[in-house]
Amino acid sequence: MTVRVRLAPSPTGNLHIGTARTAVFNYLYARHTDGEFVLRVEDTDLERSRPEYTDNILEGLKWLGLNWDDGPFFQSERMDFYRTAIQTLLDKGLAYHCYCTPEELDQMRADQKAQGLAPRYDNRHRNLSDEEKAAFEAEGRTAVVRFKIDDDRVISWKDLVRGTVTWQGKDLGGDMVIARAASSSTIGQPLYNLVVVLDDLDMKISHVIRGEDHIGNTPKQILLYEALEGDCPVFGHTPLILNESGQKLSKRDGVTSVSDFQSMGYLPEAINNYMALLGWSVPEGAEEIFTLDEISEIFSFDRVNKAGAKFDWDKLDWINSQYIHRMDVAELTPLLIPYWQQAGFQFDETQDRPWLDQIATLIGPSLVKLKDCVEQCEYLFAQDLAWTDDAKELLAQEGVSGALAGILALVKESSDFSKDTAQAAIKSVVKEQGVKKGLVMRSLRAALTGALKGPDLMDSWLLLEARGVAQDRLSNAQTLS
Ligand code: GLU
Repeated sequence: MTVRVRLAPSPTGNLHIGTARTAVFNYLYARHTDGEFVLRVEDTDLERSRPEYTDNILEGLKWLGLNWDDGPFFQSERMDFYRTAIQTLLDKGLAYHCYCTPEELDQMRADQKAQGLAPRYDNRHRNLSDEEKAAFEAEGRTAVVRFKIDDDRVISWKDLVRGTVTWQGKDLGGDMVIARAASSSTIGQPLYNLVVVLDDLDMKISHVIRGEDHIGNTPKQILLYEALEGDCPVFGHTPLILNESGQKLSKRDGVTSVSDFQSMGYLPEAINNYMALLGWSVPEGAEEIFTLDEISEIFSFDRVNKAGAKFDWDKLDWINSQYIHRMDVAELTPLLIPYWQQAGFQFDETQDRPWLDQIATLIGPSLVKLKDCVEQCEYLFAQDLAWTDDAKELLAQEGVSGALAGILALVKESSDFSKDTAQAAIKSVVKEQGVKKGLVMRSLRAALTGALKGPDLMDSWLLLEARGVAQDRLSNAQTLS
């Protein structure tokens, strides 16, 4: 049997990190088993689905490199197929029209609540006579289609993550709505539990790997597989991603969509690596930095935890920094350029490339996210350098202006600027003017970069000299004394 897994996102929002993590598990399992990964867009909810969300989801998956082997299939294009199947269930007596009004259903739930019972549909329209149906229709009522669920049934499956899971039919809320209301001669919008089963059967899905929030749907879907006389796939419900306070990570927690992570400067490899570690534990003794292809070789559901996984920004940052630090400058510079451009820094991508590469070499080891390159490089691109208050204070200190003037004069005298000429100039000024070397070094940093802290001073100086702004900065700084 060929393993076929699927990701079935609903395009009602941007690609959520939880959906992406489900995609990772599906992808890993497909690769591990030499199987196929199918993409199906579940866009039957016409009010909430939007084409821009579909684009965001497909782009996000591609950016992560979670490439699918089949699809994308769109449920909105398969409505006739679903309606035919619903008609078959109606014809077989496995489903029926229910004419209850929203008010009647509300009343039913209120009565149940008053009796201390859990709310459920009480199956009251399961066996309507033709006369009763005709009477409801004469009143102008519309009907949903409900699938019969037997209260006495016990439904059980062996979950890849959770082991044997058992549900009682009576806990499934009564006969389930599989199509929204319409006049009884037509069938309204087919609903999730049914269409997912029809598609998983039609697309020959062998393993349904999805978030634990779907576990309550699985017993209902198993009953539908039976009714449709199809083989049930194997199910695996992966733990949810939780926020700091242990709740399911949601939009309220701020950044949750893959495109937000992307614009913050996380690398796709790092996000994939982190997502795999969210819920899957590394075999004993193995390191934690893996590509998905490496993980796919050793991936198994035995190592997927049952408990929810807390989202840990520090860990993600650490993993991201590991990937950035391992990157070659030829790879890194092109990833930083868009951030510098977006910040409005002035440079020519082609002509200044050697200079940009030198910057990437300088700051690469201290980047956690790509976006950090803006803050860390502002002083290199600045047209008018602004000094921090600390820097201004330092530059106003006695002896500083003279030392900077002396160094500038010596640097101007030498034909070629290098770290050696700079060091020699510093040494000679320290000796001649009797100022402390520490103060001279800090003053140089303040004058050249506008701040008291930052990347390596000598490298920065070289870069600023190459840009032709170092000497002006050294002379401008003297005006602060
Ligand atoms: N469309 C469902 C969702 O986005 C997924 C359904 C499934 O995986 O069965 O939550």
